[in-house]
Amino acid sequence: MIIGILKETGNENRVAILPGEVTVLKKMGIEVLVELHAGERAFAEDKDFQTAGAVIVDRKEVISQATMLLSVNPPVEVDINSFREGQVLCSVLNPVENINWLEKARLRGLTVLALDLVPRTSRAQAMDILSSMATVSGYKAVLAAASLLPRFFPMFMSAAGTIKPAKVLILGAGVAGLQAIAIARKLGAVVEVFDVRSAVKEEVTSLGGKFIEVEGAKENAAAGGYAVEQTEEFKKKQQELIQQRAIAADVVIATAQIPGRKAPILLMKETVNSMKPGSVIIDLAASTGGNCELTENGKNIVVHGVNIIGKSDYPSDMPSDASKMFGCNIINLLKIMVDKDGRLVLNMSDDIINGTTAVHDKKYISQRVKQMLNIK
Ligand code: NAD
Repeated sequence: MIIGILKETGNENRVAILPGEVTVLKKMGIEVLVELHAGERAFAEDKDFQTAGAVIVDRKEVISQATMLLSVNPPVEVDINSFREGQVLCSVLNPVENINWLEKARLRGLTVLALDLVPRTSRAQAMDILSSMATVSGYKAVLAAASLLPRFFPMFMSAAGTIKPAKVLILGAGVAGLQAIAIARKLGAVVEVFDVRSAVKEEVTSLGGKFIEVEGAKENAAAGGYAVEQTEEFKKKQQELIQQRAIAADVVIATAQIPGRKAPILLMKETVNSMKPGSVIIDLAASTGGNCELTENGKNIVVHGVNIIGKSDYPSDMPSDASKMFGCNIINLLKIMVDKDGRLVLNMSDDIINGTTAVHDKKYISQRVKQMLNIK
């Protein structure tokens, strides 16, 4: 098989595979083509890819020769016509946002492997790009908040007096939220946490956070460990409690998401108006609408002296390690899809391969993609 690494478009700084992972692909019997300057913004030069055994070519050549094209984000829509039937595209997909793109790819007979559809099971843990990228986001969100906050994070006892530790409120204790708790605690902050899944209480506590429980949360085992939409009564109760805690907080890191839906609104405009001037809200759910009513995706705004950072693309700001993790996850996925001679074998009875394949043979395959897009 020939794998082609595409250069990302737009503001994306990551690259799907770094030279270190090219070496692993070569050992698996796979030929690697890399688009000219693909790794530049992730600090990987063409000559590093060449040393690792890849061949550098232009975009047209990568697309025309590769069996499988790897990228972080789906290739731009104009590229679809240059792909040939049976070619495999592998990237993060965001099926709901890219529904038209996916339909075009299906009609063209492309196979689309969506890295964000890899099942969240123990066997698939080493292939879980969402977890890797959420780890980067949780880490960067706390650092961004600490650098914006006009106060220290840790408690200080100095000759100039005692400084109280910062209070950090974390909304959503998934992978990003748990990472944010760990980093905020390492920096010495006092951390409080909300989530609707009772299972995370123990993890939050073990990381040194205080879990604030709101009674009556709806959970559904069929949601595969993800959160589900809550009742109006619960939402009201939760908003009131969040308001109380947010007013006392210096920093809010918002990470709450419901797969395939708009992010839940947890921080109301009135809450922001009552928060301390100088406090910081980092809304990692910005791209799906945000957890704060005032969040604007991709923008930093100030309301009543409160900084609201609507940012869901922190992994692109840390492209070296984010690309490293991304590439390692891809390699682990490829290990279950490639035979000993380096040929691609898509065994659709494997739950990971089936769950990750959005479209194949002009059909929608993954159950989750069908659910998200309401396809029977
Ligand atoms: P996510 O990004 O979908 O959501 C982030 C967090 O927000 C979740 O913890 C969710 O419960 C919470 N949330 C949603 N609505 C909320 C609300 N109204 N109020 C407060 N909190 C709310 O989550 P994620 O990080 O992708 O993790 C989702 C699940 O997948 C978790 O159960 C996690 O343990 C599991 N997981 C499994 C694996 C694996 O086994 N391979 C890997 C990673 C994550």
